[in-house]
Amino acid sequence: MAALGDQSEAPPPPPDQQAMASQNKPISNIVIIIAMQTEALPIVNRFQLTEEPNSPFPQGVPWVRYRGTYKNLNVSLIWPGKDPVLGVDSVGTISSALVTYAAIQTLQPDLIINAGTAGGFKAKGASIGDVFIVSDCAFHDRRIPIPVFDLYGVGLRKAVEAPNLVRELNLKVAKLSTGDSLDMSQQDESSIIANDATLKDMEGAAIAYVAELLKVPAVFVKAVTDIIDGDKPTAEEFLQNLAAVTAKLDLAVEKVINFINGKCIAEL
Ligand code: SAH
Repeated sequence: MAALGDQSEAPPPPPDQQAMASQNKPISNIVIIIAMQTEALPIVNRFQLTEEPNSPFPQGVPWVRYRGTYKNLNVSLIWPGKDPVLGVDSVGTISSALVTYAAIQTLQPDLIINAGTAGGFKAKGASIGDVFIVSDCAFHDRRIPIPVFDLYGVGLRKAVEAPNLVRELNLKVAKLSTGDSLDMSQQDESSIIANDATLKDMEGAAIAYVAELLKVPAVFVKAVTDIIDGDKPTAEEFLQNLAAVTAKLDLAVEKVINFINGKCIAEL
């Protein structure tokens, strides 16, 4: 029988204390989640990441892991890949939630970074090429008009607070609204306004949901490719600006990663 005060079988610290301990150790393992190949490749090249031949993911899924080391960091970039049937990027909430779950389970990152393009509201101060750090994520296309389920549908989640990162890199901060459509119905627009969002994308709130569920802090870096409350058709404007804006996104991600290097979550 274990003697009173014997520490050898002491239970592990409660999850809250574990979370606090991980807040105070230097970040070493990061996972970057990016929906589109055009957004991902500049970052793969910048950090000289290479495609992992032994995928940690189930056989047959199109998800791709690029990996490498940069300064003190193990960096993995996960791209959900091309749709196996249609051959286009697997954008949207389902793929991004799945890869976030799989990446956390297999790679156990200290931090998730979701980088990507987004639509921006000029009425809220967004311009083409602006890069934002997201403070809050919510959904705009999950309408469930029953008390409490309505809030579940909106699914508001906070990104990790990173006041030092925002100050030092001089980035704008805004709220993000996520849905599974590139276009915007009138109902979507009302919900985005109710979410007080400056940015609209197709992945952020889904990634925030999984990250919170599995208690991994997440940072969202979003660059504006199109103005939602402007007069140009979104798809056209998006494609026109994609290459130039992706270059800005890539530079911002480099700065964010340089800032993160050597720090712990509590210092962000
Ligand atoms: N026509 C594109 C489709 C990409 S879907 C193609 O050639 O593949 C748009 C992607 O960019 C999503 O990953 C989404 O997160 C982001 N995005 C950019 N602008 C957006 C907007 N106005 N609304 C929603 N998502 C947007």
